[in-house]
Amino acid sequence: MQVPTSASPLRLAMDAAALVANWRALDAMSGAAVAGAAVKADAYGLGARRVVSALAQAGCRDFFVAHWLEAAALLDVVDPRRIAVLHGPLTAQDVAFAQATGVRPVLNSVEQAARWRAAGGGLCDVMVDTGMNRLGVGQGDLAGLSSLQVDVLHSHLASADEDSALNAAQLARWQAAREALPHARAALANSAGIALGAAYHGDLTRPGIALYGGVPRGELAGVIRSVAMPQVALLQVRQIVAGESVGYNATFTAPAPMRVGTVALGYADGYLRCWSGKGMLRGGDGVDLPVLGRVSMDLTIVDLTHAPDLGEGDWLGVDYDLAAASAVTGLSPYELLTGLGRRFARAS
Ligand SMILES: *Cc1c(COP(=O)(O)O)cnc(C)c1O
Repeated sequence: MQVPTSASPLRLAMDAAALVANWRALDAMSGAAVAGAAVKADAYGLGARRVVSALAQAGCRDFFVAHWLEAAALLDVVDPRRIAVLHGPLTAQDVAFAQATGVRPVLNSVEQAARWRAAGGGLCDVMVDTGMNRLGVGQGDLAGLSSLQVDVLHSHLASADEDSALNAAQLARWQAAREALPHARAALANSAGIALGAAYHGDLTRPGIALYGGVPRGELAGVIRSVAMPQVALLQVRQIVAGESVGYNATFTAPAPMRVGTVALGYADGYLRCWSGKGMLRGGDGVDLPVLGRVSMDLTIVDLTHAPDLGEGDWLGVDYDLAAASAVTGLSPYELLTGLGRRFARAS
């Protein structure tokens, strides 16, 4: 039996020029430090292979994933020594993979450090906890790690997107950690942290969301461009009369005769039900195509009354500006991007 090969009716277009421009802007804002890139969770849903390949070509040299499997999927895209795994080695297999490939582990605990040393060690990163209490070696345990060969000494800010006293407190603890453990480079700032100023930059920054179009602090507004553009094919068009309803639970009733269309996008693709009656799609000429009624699992219905030329098979854009989408749905920019599902084609 032949597996069907028709193209997906869903694609996640990526503006590679905007991605690179965002990285360059964040690199410039990082001052004396250089910007790396957080590409965990498939580069926040954009597609890690195409993101890493575009950023590496632009000059980015440090890439951060969360899982070892995410590193394994990038070995033929970038020099493995440029990849670090934030979760660190949980098993002997993780350690063996790191040593065989050159991917650096980020050691987060005394146990992880012991596991790394027991297998012969080598160049590694260390995450020190400075007050988030998520991942990282405690300040008091740093002295015991001095025999490690540390490339990057990391910490991570809990509240960089706010003007919180915790930022300065974490900065001071990170500076103390830099005195306590020898290392080649130091890193603290995520996207928002870059905007906190030179003291937070160290040698390397780790932006994620802002690379992909998110604006976590006002200082980045006007600098960061949109990168992700969901697009979907129109599956069916119909004419309905006044008084007819559309979709599950008939939450929308036509006030007048309408032309409506059904697209291949639903909550299983990350277009969650919070978009019901609120989302907006666009025809090629930019015409508004409001979402009507409930979003269902695989399908969404839109108003085509003002787009008489659109028909079956045409491609529509989905309004997905992260700030606006976040305001409409209550979802964070991080959730809006990482929720976009596997049925989206992500061309390389
Ligand atoms: C995800 C992550 C980042 C990137 O954070 P953004 O807020 O997306 O810029 C940086 N550092 C660490 C340790 C992370 O887990």
